[in-house]
Amino acid sequence: MSTTPPETGGTGAGDGFAPIDIHVHIQPLEMMKPECRDVMKQRHTDWKGFQELSLDPSAFVDLMDREGIHRVGVINYVAEEVMGFPPEVNQWAARYARNHRDRLIPFGSVDPTQVNDARAEVTRLVDELNLSALKIHPPHMLVHSNAYRSGLTQLERLYERAQELKLPVMIHTGTSIFPRARNSYANPMDVDDVAVDFPELPIILAHGGRPLWMDTAVFLIRRHPNVHMDISGIPPQSLLEYFPRLEQMASKVLWGSDWPAPLVPGMGENLKRFLALPLSDAARRKILHDNAIKLFGAA
Ligand SMILES: [Zn+2]
Repeated sequence: MSTTPPETGGTGAGDGFAPIDIHVHIQPLEMMKPECRDVMKQRHTDWKGFQELSLDPSAFVDLMDREGIHRVGVINYVAEEVMGFPPEVNQWAARYARNHRDRLIPFGSVDPTQVNDARAEVTRLVDELNLSALKIHPPHMLVHSNAYRSGLTQLERLYERAQELKLPVMIHTGTSIFPRARNSYANPMDVDDVAVDFPELPIILAHGGRPLWMDTAVFLIRRHPNVHMDISGIPPQSLLEYFPRLEQMASKVLWGSDWPAPLVPGMGENLKRFLALPLSDAARRKILHDNAIKLFGAA
C-alpha cells in the first residue's frame, strides 16, 4: 500500500504542494513489440531496473518518494499494429494502479477502429476498471484525432461518452520515432475539430506539439477553454525557448516528464530542472499541481 505523500518543501517549489507528473510510461513491456522495446532499451541507462519497476508498483511508488513526486499519470494505450499493445493493456493499467490510487492515475484507451460500441467500452473502462483518463495516440494508433469527421463513427462515440463522464482525454501531439509510427497523424491542429465539437471534453495535448507544432499547441490552448497541454518530453531547460509565454499560459499547462522515454533523465531530475526556470511561484504551483487536481481530482 502507499506511503505518506512526500513533503515538497525540499523541492524549492514554494508553499509545500506535492508535484504531479502527469505523463510517465510504465507499461507491460512483455506486450510491446520487440523492435519497439529495443528503441527504449538502447537508450535506457538502467533497463533492468526499469523492467523491475514495471512489474512492481510498490517499488515504483518508493521511487516516486525518493524523487519527491506525489502522483503520477501512468500512460497506457491500445496500439496493436505499431507498438503491440492489445486491449488487455487496460486491465494491466488497472491492476498496476489498484493498490496505489492515492499516488497513481491510470490512463487507458479504446482503439476506435477495433470496437463496435465505443460508448460501452469507455463506460467499462471507468466502471469496471476504474481508469482515470483516456489516451489517444494518433501516430501509434494510425488514426487522426478528428477522423470521426471522415466516417470513423466509433471515435465520435468515444469522445461523446468521455465528455458525458468528464473523463480527461490526453491526445498525443508531435512526432514519434518508434519504428512504423506515422507522423502524418502527429499534427495537433486535428484537435481543433475535437475541441469545437466536444466543448465540455477535458483535453490534454501531450508534449505541446513537440518539436514541429509548438505554435499550434499554444494556439489551441489559448483558443479553447477545454484544451490544456502537458510539457512532457521537452527538456525543461529549453522550455522557455519553446514557450516564451509559459508564465502567462500557466493555467493551461501540466508538468510531465515522459520518463522513461529516450533522453529523459528521470522524474526527479526533470522536476529539478523545471524548478530552476525563472517562473513565479504561482505559475509553478499551477503547472506542477493545481491544474492536474482540477482535471483529475484530489487523491
Ligand atoms: Zn509519452
